[in-house]
Amino acid sequence: MAIYFDNAATTPVAPEVRDAILPFLNGEFGNPSATHALGRPIKVAIEKARKVVASSLNASPSEIFFTSCGTEANNTVLMGCIRDLGVQNIVTSPIEHHCILHFVDFLSKSFGTNVHYVPVDNKGRVIYDELSTILSNLEGKTVVSLMHANNEIGTKIDLDKISEMCKEHNALLHSDMVQTYAHFPIDVQKMPIDFMASSAHKFHGPKGIGFMYIRGDHKISPMIFGGSQERNMRAGTENVTGIIGLGKAVELAMENMEKDREHIEGLKHYLATELQKRFKDIQFNGDYDGDSLYTVLNVSFPCSADQMLLFNLDISGICASGGSACSSGTNIGSHVLNAIGSDPNRTPVRFSFSKYNTKDEVDVLLA
Ligand code: PLP
Repeated sequence: MAIYFDNAATTPVAPEVRDAILPFLNGEFGNPSATHALGRPIKVAIEKARKVVASSLNASPSEIFFTSCGTEANNTVLMGCIRDLGVQNIVTSPIEHHCILHFVDFLSKSFGTNVHYVPVDNKGRVIYDELSTILSNLEGKTVVSLMHANNEIGTKIDLDKISEMCKEHNALLHSDMVQTYAHFPIDVQKMPIDFMASSAHKFHGPKGIGFMYIRGDHKISPMIFGGSQERNMRAGTENVTGIIGLGKAVELAMENMEKDREHIEGLKHYLATELQKRFKDIQFNGDYDGDSLYTVLNVSFPCSADQMLLFNLDISGICASGGSACSSGTNIGSHVLNAIGSDPNRTPVRFSFSKYNTKDEVDVLLA
């Protein structure tokens, strides 16, 4: 059996989630829009999942909309800002996920949206003074879209601080929380954000299901047309098993968040410490011992690409992921590692952990 250290890419579905889904693959197959006896309970189950998500965020169920994934949630929010809310400026960063970066390119080309990139430092931390300067100089309605934590290097942002800055400058705030939701407590009343995006497969739910939070007073229109599902916000028969699985995965994450965090943080710390003991010249990409994901350790190994570290780990039954800094004109490399100025002559490997990993597995990796 492979040792799986690639949980920032996707996580295994929890057995409890699988068990919660199974009845909806067997007898309970009705269409949630049907008003008859086979449809009604399905609708009830969907609304129960919505309540679970809403309560996890201290939001209202009417503010939660299920989508096919985090990508769709991020795209829909930004499209709504430009098309429906009169936003002219997007402020984002160069280290966002491509579902933000490629979509803001599209918005800029299609709608003439002004896009501003707030710089990050060599650990991937947003430079807050620069954000303040950008916001002070902008004219017209603005949305700030910044990821809560970076999926490659784990660096988190201070959303409380950014939320204050947005309030001061009358800007909307969207956060891609795909790597943090269900891993960290999030309360949208205490930390006022306008929008967020999340995805179930990053916290032991199924793939192909996510959601967006849209603060109650914002009215945006759908990206997908042709039905009144999701209160006219997303047409198409619901991914029932996905929604049920997402709801169960949220329940589990909320119940066990502190315990899981302690365990996973311990593994990350153990790996970092042991690597430092074994390799004189080990480095870590990102703010690994600062404000960072406890699930991600991005290690910068003192060896070159031709030593094929990831490939050799794979041969040894260890799944992790790479991404390199740009080392030649033909090698585009990771946009995140390039943006933080990571050394292209070293080999980066991202190890990302879940509650199912063990210290024994880390020992196998170290050996
Ligand atoms: N945003 C971040 C930070 C991610 O890590 C990912 C997935 O890796 C996404 C967005 C896209 O999510 P999904 O796979 O659900 O489309």
